[in-house]
Amino acid sequence: MIIKLENQEKKDINTEPYFTTVVNIMTAYKEGKHIVIAEAKFFEEIRNNNNFDERIRNAAMRAENEQRQYHQLLKGVNAYIHVELGNLSSNYKKNEDNGIEKIVVSCEFFKDSSSIQKINLLCEDLSDADLYLKMGDFYKHNINLSTINILFDHIGGGGDNTYKSFSKITENTRFCLCLLDSDKKHPSGKQGGTSLKFKDKKIPFNGKYIVINAHEAECLIPNEIIELLILDRNLNHYNYDFHTRLDYLREICQSNSLVKLYFDHKEGLTVNNIKKFDKSGDTPFWENAVKGATGLKRRKCAINFHCDCKESASKKNQQECYIILGFGSKLLEDSSAKINQMPTPKIKHMLKEPLLTEWMNIGREIFSWGCAPSKVARTS
Ligand SMILES: [Zn+2]
Repeated sequence: MIIKLENQEKKDINTEPYFTTVVNIMTAYKEGKHIVIAEAKFFEEIRNNNNFDERIRNAAMRAENEQRQYHQLLKGVNAYIHVELGNLSSNYKKNEDNGIEKIVVSCEFFKDSSSIQKINLLCEDLSDADLYLKMGDFYKHNINLSTINILFDHIGGGGDNTYKSFSKITENTRFCLCLLDSDKKHPSGKQGGTSLKFKDKKIPFNGKYIVINAHEAECLIPNEIIELLILDRNLNHYNYDFHTRLDYLREICQSNSLVKLYFDHKEGLTVNNIKKFDKSGDTPFWENAVKGATGLKRRKCAINFHCDCKESASKKNQQECYIILGFGSKLLEDSSAKINQMPTPKIKHMLKEPLLTEWMNIGREIFSWGCAPSKVARTS
């Protein structure tokens, strides 16, 4: 993350607690954990001061040389840490007019070296994190800052315990970015699942959680990637029949592109889901999308949006009818692996709305919280 360091009150950095705080922040920079922005005068003061050891003085020199690029970076992030040395105890978050989140952190907070570790990235699942990291990568390429690193620690899958993990990390004076599925089944439906546990909770200054604007992470996988999985002979989770499922998904997305963000990619969509999901929102979103998808083959119950094939005694053991079958529980893991093999420009060609906006939004969060000095800047 960016740490903007100021010394407006002209505190003597040879004295405590200022000295230790400056050493900790510059060490984090040297180790490639955080980016430091300060005035040239400030870096000059460090590099000419023999109280700091040589490694810290060198780090100050390198940081000074990179300031132009780091200032450029400030325009690409939506959050940064601000440390005014004279502020000894107040920690809080403040939204600036330009929509950027300024995380004000006290000098005392960073006096403890454990508080200056890498940022934690916490998601519901490990495969989610893989996909989100790729979005960060995509974002930085798009804003022409591809040399900046993205670095996180404890990239964890919290599952049902995500809120507990988040609280524990932030209580331990660590910074944490957390991404959650909305579990919404309709654009105007209610949030569900894990994200509900975060609602109405006081979120500390060193943490942020984001509920993605989609049912779950699988919704953010481009259809072209799903196609590549079906075609991949080394993967046996997808047989030839999956081509039809994908064709149907494309068909219904053409009817309403927002379907992509709410379709349950793992489980698919049953006939009886239509009315049920539409009741959870305030429009006949699913019914209209299915009606508009003229290429969709529908049996009688799918035309009436009512299926009791499962219950009817004459057809014992019969299953409930589907509008579109799902792609199974391995989809996210397989997709993340596939996407990670792919050069970023190639992914760019696959991303159309509404996915492009979501990738850029999530990518900006990942980049803002995880940005770190490039290796070149640290070793030159
Ligand atoms: Zn049926």
